Amino acid sequence: MHNIVMDNYKDHIAIIGSGIAGLAIGCILLKEGVPSIIFEKHSKLGSHGAGISLSPNALRVLRYMGLEDEVEKISKLSLTTKIQDNTKTLYSSSSNVRTTSREMLYKILLNKYKSYGGRIIYNHELRKIDSDSSKVFFQNNSNFVVKHVIACDGIKSISRNSISESASTPSYSGYSAWRGIIKSEDNSINLHLSKNSHIVSYPIDNEFTSFVAVIKTANEYKEAWKIEGSTDEMKADLSMHSIKLVSKLAKSNEVFKWGIYKRPDVNKLFVKNITFLGDAAHPIVPFLGQGGCMALEDAYIFGKLLTKYRDDIAHAQREYKRLRAPRLRMVKRMSETQGYLYHLSNPLIISIRNFLMRNSSSTTEKRLMRIWDYDPNNDLK
Ligand SMILES: Cc1cc2nc3c(=O)[nH]c(=O)nc-3n(C[C@H](O)[C@H](O)[C@H](O)COP(=O)(O)OP(=O)(O)OC[C@H]3O[C@@H](n4cnc5c(N)ncnc54)[C@H](O)[C@@H]3O)c2cc1C
Repeated sequence: MHNIVMDNYKDHIAIIGSGIAGLAIGCILLKEGVPSIIFEKHSKLGSHGAGISLSPNALRVLRYMGLEDEVEKISKLSLTTKIQDNTKTLYSSSSNVRTTSREMLYKILLNKYKSYGGRIIYNHELRKIDSDSSKVFFQNNSNFVVKHVIACDGIKSISRNSISESASTPSYSGYSAWRGIIKSEDNSINLHLSKNSHIVSYPIDNEFTSFVAVIKTANEYKEAWKIEGSTDEMKADLSMHSIKLVSKLAKSNEVFKWGIYKRPDVNKLFVKNITFLGDAAHPIVPFLGQGGCMALEDAYIFGKLLTKYRDDIAHAQREYKRLRAPRLRMVKRMSETQGYLYHLSNPLIISIRNFLMRNSSSTTEKRLMRIWDYDPNNDLK
């Protein structure tokens, strides 16, 4: 097929990727009558068979988007968050975090997007963006001239190549992970800490619990979401945890393993006529469960700004950077610190950490509140 340049989207905002950020900003723009279109590389909505936790800052965004009832229907409100070191409880508090499956979160965003008449052009894998001519090129040889590009193409973003090749070069974070889903009616978020490792689990519905087990290791696994491993291999990797706990996780029908990789941030959050959101802009290590929450915040803030300044997109971009950059830096820093605290190996430092967790829960909560209390409408006033 020859390259065909079609310009029927030249008045549209092109959103690359129908993940959390892409669907959320699609909803916000269409609700306000800003013509938008999503291009997605897959042939349908992704099904990841994994969980996601939504802290109050993300729930606020979803409420402002009119999705409160839908979120309540598809998620569990965890009654407690408990942190344990082997069998000892270090920290326990009531929780107002909702947990669900990624698939259900995608579904309610997609339904909302469709309810505004939104369209997704599937099987369109971005190849490159020409930021001078605002043209997007896809692997299937189709090209479109668009008004503006919002890059929401996730952790392995191709849009980042518009900045430089090195902007998308991954580097191993030092952490590899296992995930699976087990039958359990436990209604809490549980964190188990052990030497160089932590395991987090939470309900995704009334019947099933999702878990992610992370180990600090020089033995890096591939960066892939769907590489199946064996339960024996997982048990060996998690030998620092109690046999009882690991045997429970090994009941998962299938377990997946992958390496957690980092990429440099997109410093400016925009380049010419491209604006970056979510993981495409600022990939963060997942130890505070904030990647998806930040994607929702980004989408809400840039969606509202673009609506307000639709005739001066460059101004919307500058405001987006001004409002988001400090917060994103803080959340990234806190996630990295959490990664350090969750994967200690020195027994003395572990006992200091455990003492502090047991005796200064208010400090832990205060730290979290800096993230959870955020209200994007205060920023937009
Ligand atoms: C182990 C783990 C646990 C996590 N737990 C949590 C949690 O509890 N809470 C939380 O908030 N976050 C969590 N996260 C992070 C969260 O999953 C991500 O930050 C979030 O999905 C980012 O949203 P996004 O929209 O930027 O990208 P995604 O949701 O990944 O969407 C990207 C979309 O772009 C599409 N795409 C990619 N490349 C192209 C291309 N070239 N052309 C067209 N389309 C393309 C993809 O198919 C996909 O649909 C976790 C992450 C990990 C690894």
